[in-house]
Order: sequence, then structure tokens, then C-alpha cells
Amino acid sequence: MESVLEYAKAMGKSTGLVVTSQINHATPASYVAHVPQRRMYNEIADSYFDAKIDDQFKVNVMLGGGWQYFIRDDRNLVEEFQQAGYQYIDSYAQLETIDNHNVLGLFADRGLPAALDEGNPDRLKDMVQAAVSRLETNDKGFFLLVEGSQIDWASHANDVASTMAEMDDLHRALLWLETYVSQHPNTLVVVTADHNTGGMTMGERAGGYRWEPAYLRQFSASPRTIAVTHAEQTWDPASLNQQLGFTLTKEEMAVLQPAHKEGAKAFYQAIKQVVDQRTNTGWTTGGHTGVDVPVFAFGQGKEQFIGQMDNTDIAKKLFAMLGRTPENESNKP
Ligand SMILES: [Zn+2]
Repeated sequence: MESVLEYAKAMGKSTGLVVTSQINHATPASYVAHVPQRRMYNEIADSYFDAKIDDQFKVNVMLGGGWQYFIRDDRNLVEEFQQAGYQYIDSYAQLETIDNHNVLGLFADRGLPAALDEGNPDRLKDMVQAAVSRLETNDKGFFLLVEGSQIDWASHANDVASTMAEMDDLHRALLWLETYVSQHPNTLVVVTADHNTGGMTMGERAGGYRWEPAYLRQFSASPRTIAVTHAEQTWDPASLNQQLGFTLTKEEMAVLQPAHKEGAKAFYQAIKQVVDQRTNTGWTTGGHTGVDVPVFAFGQGKEQFIGQMDNTDIAKKLFAMLGRTPENESNKP
């Protein structure tokens, strides 16, 4: 089955993947790779190099994580891409040095650090901006897949502080794209999710429909990282207060202190419990839910995405906008 990215490439457009997971994780891979199982990470990474369209690499710009899959004992895909003319970068600072149309940028062993553990609140925006600056030089246009990958991961963990920080990461990238589209009105941006995760509920507990996200704004690290670092040292409420950005009450200390003795996992659970109670956040599952997800669109052709639609309709509409219809599918270029 041909993906929208593959069809865009066959039409002569430039293509890109920008994600905060490893670049060969399920969502980006679904646009490029054809393997039986999503966890075949090495095979997926191999196919990014090996599978071609009209003798060309499928993806011009790849930015995300994944050293361990691209630099292996049995194969060094970074070297292979470099020998094939790709520019390779491995730090965000190098995003500004990109001067090649084909770029592989890997910034972590697997997924990127959680947004709360990054010094730069604009990391996704910076990657999107760098990718667009290369892709837009193609007169025939470009297709770019951007994923705020860790919104899902943080929601699986029922970690509201991390979920909101990952949402903010995507939000900053979207703000930049909104400005870009206002200056390049022949561009279309479609924003959606493949599902909801966690069933996050605001104002779930006692005290009415109150939600207090202000307590989520001052974290100096992700709750998982706070838990892991504190579990390795003696009970230190002062530094905990500082990292959480609020002063723990006696009741909250009574939840956290016993959990601290039980190690990082229990302490992480306890921190999440305290943060959920403070912010009045609830969760219905550690998995995915079946609720409808929003679809937003801006730029040229945005009106095609108004209203309720089947998820597969989004791909059909994008294919049609690129010129492929069910009628001409068999005699594609
Ligand atoms: Zn998920």
C-alpha cells in the first residue's frame, strides 16, 4: 500500500519526517516502511536507506531520535547516508547549519528526552523550521509529517505534567506553522491524532469543575526524572519543592515520603498522584480510548477538513489534493 509521502515523492515533491520519538517509530515508519511488525526497528531503519522511489531516497529530511537503530554493529546507516550525500547532524545547535537538501538529524539514542527534560522549549518548532527551510526550495512542493510523539507516551503514563509539556511542544511548532502558512498561503497544514490516550479528565475530583494547570508550569524536570533522581538519594523535600515548583503540604508529604522508600517506580506513581490531586486531573485508562479526535486545518484547501469524517478520509483527501484519485490510481506516474 502506497503512503501519501511515497506518492508525494513519486510526484517529484520533497519529503520530510520530524518527530520527537525515534525516527523509525510507528507513526513516521507508517509513511515510509513496509514491514510486518512495528517493533522491527532495525529493519525499518534499513528500509529508510534501502527502499527507493525512482532510484531516489524516499525521505529528504529526517529529524528525531534513534542512534541505536542507525549506528549498529552490523550496519552503520549514518555512514551510509553520509556516503550517499546526506548531511548528518546530532545536536539541535546544528539545525542552523543545514545547507544540504538531504539531511539526517538524530538527537538521542531512542526517543528524544521528555519535553520537560529538554533545556529548549522550542525543540520541535526548531526542527520543523529547519526541515521546512530545506523542503520549500523544491518548486514542485513538499510533504512533511510532524509528530508530537510523546503526547501519547506521557498520557499512557497518566502523567499530566508531561502530557501538557508535550502538548506545549507541539503547540509552539503549530504557532510557527500558522505564521508560515500566512506567508505561504498555498501551503496546507492538517493537524490531528490517531486516537486519544489516557482519557484525561479535568475537574474530576471533589470540589467542583476546577482544574488548576498553573501547578504544571514550574516543573524543572519531568516527574519521571524527578522520581528517578530522588530515589537514588536521601529524602529531600526542599529540592523536591524546588523541582516541582510548588511547596508540598503535610498531606502530600505523607503520600510521597513512604513511596520514596520503595524506589523510583513507586515514587513516580506517588508524584503523579499528588499532581493529579493538586490540579484536579483524572484518567480513565493507561491505554487508548475510543473517543473521536479533533481535526484542524489551515491554509489552502482547509475547508475540505470541516465536519466529521472517517479517519481514512483524511488520507483520501490528501491523495486527491496531490492528484491521485481512485480512477487514476492504476496509471500513476
Ligand atoms: Zn499509544
